[in-house]
Amino acid sequence: MPTEKILVVDDSFEMREFVADSILRLAGYETLKADNGASGLELARETSPDLIIADVRMPKLTGLELAQIIRREKLNIPVILVTAEGSEQLARDALRAGVADYFVKPFKADDLLAAVRQTLDTAQAENERIRVPSETAAINESLRLRLKELETLIGVGRNVTSVLDLDQVLAKVVEAAVSLTGAEEGSLLLLDQNTNELTMRAAKNFDDNFARTFRLRSDDSLAGQVIRTGEPVLLDDNAPQKIKTAYLVHSLVYVPLKIHGRIIGVLGVDNRRAGRAFTQHHQRLLYALGDYAAIAIENARAYSRTERQRVQLETILHETEDGVIVVDTDKRLILINPTARAAFGVNGAPVVGRALAEVVPHPDICDLFNEDGRRREITLADGRIFNAHLTPINGIGQAVVMQDITHLKELDRIKSEFVTTVSHDLRSPLTAILGYVELLSRAGPVNSQQADFMRRIQVSVQSITALITDLLDLGRIEAGFDVQKEVTYPALVVRYAVDGVRQQAEAKGQNLVTSVPETLPRLCATPARLRQMLGNLLENAIKYTPEGGTITVTGRAEQDFILLTISDTGLGIPPADQPYIFDKFFRAGNTRMDYVGTGLGLSIVKSIVEDHEGRIWVESKLNQGTTFTVMLPEYKEETA
Ligand code: ADP
Repeated sequence: MPTEKILVVDDSFEMREFVADSILRLAGYETLKADNGASGLELARETSPDLIIADVRMPKLTGLELAQIIRREKLNIPVILVTAEGSEQLARDALRAGVADYFVKPFKADDLLAAVRQTLDTAQAENERIRVPSETAAINESLRLRLKELETLIGVGRNVTSVLDLDQVLAKVVEAAVSLTGAEEGSLLLLDQNTNELTMRAAKNFDDNFARTFRLRSDDSLAGQVIRTGEPVLLDDNAPQKIKTAYLVHSLVYVPLKIHGRIIGVLGVDNRRAGRAFTQHHQRLLYALGDYAAIAIENARAYSRTERQRVQLETILHETEDGVIVVDTDKRLILINPTARAAFGVNGAPVVGRALAEVVPHPDICDLFNEDGRRREITLADGRIFNAHLTPINGIGQAVVMQDITHLKELDRIKSEFVTTVSHDLRSPLTAILGYVELLSRAGPVNSQQADFMRRIQVSVQSITALITDLLDLGRIEAGFDVQKEVTYPALVVRYAVDGVRQQAEAKGQNLVTSVPETLPRLCATPARLRQMLGNLLENAIKYTPEGGTITVTGRAEQDFILLTISDTGLGIPPADQPYIFDKFFRAGNTRMDYVGTGLGLSIVKSIVEDHEGRIWVESKLNQGTTFTVMLPEYKEETA
């Protein structure tokens, strides 16, 4: 069914209704009606019908005049005239007015319909013939241009990501700018922050020498204006302008280059000859290319920054006297510096990517890498001792840094030896003092004041003796003399230790509670030392807890360890002092002088715990109490 729209213009009501409704509408056309030429013209302009059927003789405007106006205004609507009296003159005029057909009344409905159909088909074919070639060609041309622009932009983009050489990328950018805008020449100017001058970093069609020596003050040039304002400059084909002394151009586009909002330079194209203008579109293309240039410059700067830092870091690692070993998550070497190589006799062969255990077969190092966040002393074949510290590194693996502590260990050994010798040698004179004090009273009567002085001498000598005993103990444990270890029941050791201090606790009216199951796994230990360790902790708990307090000992097994806790309801330890309480001779700030002690007890405790491959830590609240926890590995048949 046809859906074309036909306007019927006739002053006769019957004719209008007959043609529009009885003939055309019935044949399926959409119809519009007007009862005179003027309103017919108006309706035609407003609604652009596909065809007009107009009576010739009408008031205001005749059908012929209507056809003439339609043709003059290039409305592109075919007109069929209907007339009561045909004449040769009218036929000629109609032909000149481009009328498609004309009918003399009366006519047959079928004839009119056939003419309508044919006129519409011809008009449509004609429309297509006119429109298709010219419009398509224009669209094709503009698409071709856009495609070329896109291809160039993509090419430059690919260059930015794949080419590391900045000069090459920037040259490509300028070349693309020139070719996409059809300009005579192009340049990329970068701002030197120190001198505030612009230099030509890349150029196309500029004389080489000119480009190399190009310098522009940024405060009084067109390019400088772009730098200062951050706004582009577009000069149409105007009177020539200077971009540099004696360098005139007729048209030009400059766009700013920005990195993180900071302007670092200018990308520009220009024409030195007249008659070639640039447009906003060219400016937009330059902006896109400018972004690529900025990205390339930023990439290059970031790369050289990283490279500099990498070289710096490599030099530090290379030169440092500490040994450094880094492995990935599969324990494959990422780095081993010369100090570490020398320590483990690793030759200069490439080792990156090889298994650690294969390159550094030292068992202590391999053990260390298997337990995160630990320290270990490592003794080398040549007798040197390193303190190695392992640090997990997120996303990379693990690193071990090792310091040579051989001389510190030697100093420590000499000091311990000295202390042991002195302590030992002091015992004899002290025994003599104590002995003679005792003899004094037997040698003759002493008055009460003399007796008091003698008691004081005895107390002092006893506390010196206790100190010496502690020092000697410590020396012996640290020297590792307690090699005799046996399978030991923790509950039993705890019972002995608690029994040993029961009297002291009772003397202060304290409650001594023990909760250590007999079923706890066994330990591999020196029982006497374990008793000494628990004894020290218990004595402290009693000493630093006021009368009537409670001392509690608990024991439990957890994974492959036995955890013993000794808690009290006493003075507590100030948080600031807690890290130091295991140091020799350290006593916390809240310890009054009347609590007798040497400050060596916890050092002995710690040495014993470490000698048993265990750990000890403290939790304490001032005036509420303290809990020491000792963690010892349980005895395993297969490790015995
Ligand atoms: P001391 O001979 O002084 O008791 P230690 O080495 O046994 O020496 O203990 C060091 C210090 O730790 C003590 O002087 C004391 O300040 C503090 N301390 C140890 N155990 C306790 C405890 N159970 N409650 C409060 N303070 C304690």
